[in-house]
Amino acid sequence: MYRISSVKTATVRQMRKTVNRVQEWDLGFRRDINDWEVEELSNLLSALEVVHLDDEEEDRLIWKPESDGEFKVSSFNKILMTIRLDPNPVFNIIWEAPIPYKVCFFSWEASLHKIHTQDRLQRCGITLVNRCHMCKRACETVLHLLFTCDFASKVWSEFLNLFGVSWVFPNSVEACVLSWESPNKKPKI
Ligand SMILES: [Zn+2]
Repeated sequence: MYRISSVKTATVRQMRKTVNRVQEWDLGFRRDINDWEVEELSNLLSALEVVHLDDEEEDRLIWKPESDGEFKVSSFNKILMTIRLDPNPVFNIIWEAPIPYKVCFFSWEASLHKIHTQDRLQRCGITLVNRCHMCKRACETVLHLLFTCDFASKVWSEFLNLFGVSWVFPNSVEACVLSWESPNKKPKI
């Protein structure tokens, strides 16, 4: 509903009008409501129904977690820290790892198969010939790009050899993250 409002900064009081002593809402939409938006509008009207405005007080936005009603980034951050965003253990391992955020972000996207590999672009309806740019021998999937491609596996081997580790390549990014969960936990050999 907010998307189609022509007065996005209006207060509740400004939306309300009284006609013949009956309270009505003039919500100022810039177009008619579509069928699929009726339920959303109904929910909005239900929420407005229970609003009682005190004519003595100014109608303004308040931030409930603060006693003075003023929004503070610090209090918003405090609330975010108390919310467990995702019960997925992979999420916590990635985002709690002592690595740069851009690496966390890429790893998280890869674990969700959201990186723009060619197979994903095809699923999004883009017509292309799916072929790995590096080896030109297989379709480009997350698993292939990051693990099973000859080029990727060479990089992994070089890296792991530095630490004398032998590693069975995982069958998914999630399995990889879980196998590297703790610095004290050795990867599956
Ligand atoms: Zn390849």
